Amino acid sequence: MKIIYLLSVGLLLPAGAHAVDLDVRNAAEFERCVSASAKLERLATDMKFVEGPQWVPSDGGFLVFSDIPSNELKQWTDKTGLSTFRNPSGNTNGNTIGNDGLLLSAEHGGRRISRTDASGSVVTVVDRFEGKRLNSPNDVVMSSDGAIWFTDPDYGLPSDPETKQKVGKELPGDFVFRFDPKTKVLSAAATDFKKPNGLCFSPDGRRLYVADSGAPRQIRGFEVSSDGSLKGGEVFAKIDKGGPDGIRCDSEGRVWSSAGDGVHVFSPAGELLGKILVPESPANLAFGGADMKTLYITARKSLYAVPVLVRGVR
Ligand code: MG
Repeated sequence: MKIIYLLSVGLLLPAGAHAVDLDVRNAAEFERCVSASAKLERLATDMKFVEGPQWVPSDGGFLVFSDIPSNELKQWTDKTGLSTFRNPSGNTNGNTIGNDGLLLSAEHGGRRISRTDASGSVVTVVDRFEGKRLNSPNDVVMSSDGAIWFTDPDYGLPSDPETKQKVGKELPGDFVFRFDPKTKVLSAAATDFKKPNGLCFSPDGRRLYVADSGAPRQIRGFEVSSDGSLKGGEVFAKIDKGGPDGIRCDSEGRVWSSAGDGVHVFSPAGELLGKILVPESPANLAFGGADMKTLYITARKSLYAVPVLVRGVR
């Protein structure tokens, strides 16, 4: 069955499944993450710029992801392939699933965090900080206490062709935010990033990792206090090829980061264990499948998948 499926994918997509290219830095540790015989599949291509993959366990399970310039949320399942989930999407970028199972999205165009209700209607969760419009929310996660954490770099705002200044920017910086849905209070949790981008929690929820895709290009780690404030913020890992964008933790506390040449896997201590090399530069990634052991990668015009040996964290 598997062989027939792989053959059919190969026939449909000339550059379909092929043996994954690995750059191994710590063999004993990295072979626990991904098998050298795993196949990297290009599931779909010819999109514009894909981002924000998120596995949705309901309805049999499917992957949702963004094609930002196309103003479209896409959907992928093994059975039905690629389809449109929503258009227009408010130029959605990052997506996540809340503790209630509902989809939360960071919208560039909408300049907001939105929630897709069970009925399918899309509502604003938050779009202003101290009365000023957000820049262009980039990526979003929910903590175990139900708070919504997101990054707000200004990548999604248009630039004036002469001054190169961002047009319509109301905030004085590019912040990491925490929104408490119970109190409706939006707090700037970190204000010293150049371009805060991907973010993820450790499996126990006590650490928050945030990627800075500005300069320097690195991932920082914070301790999350019980009142929702952050402590620390030391450099966890530097990316040696391109920059970090989307990041995810696995169930054993490793951090998987997008980078210019593929997906870099770091130990909980920040050691680079190895890289999954990808033909196009990944912008984001998500664990999915019924066992959360498929790594989906959005990379420029294409969606890729590779089976891995560890479970991801939502
Ligand atoms: Mg991003």
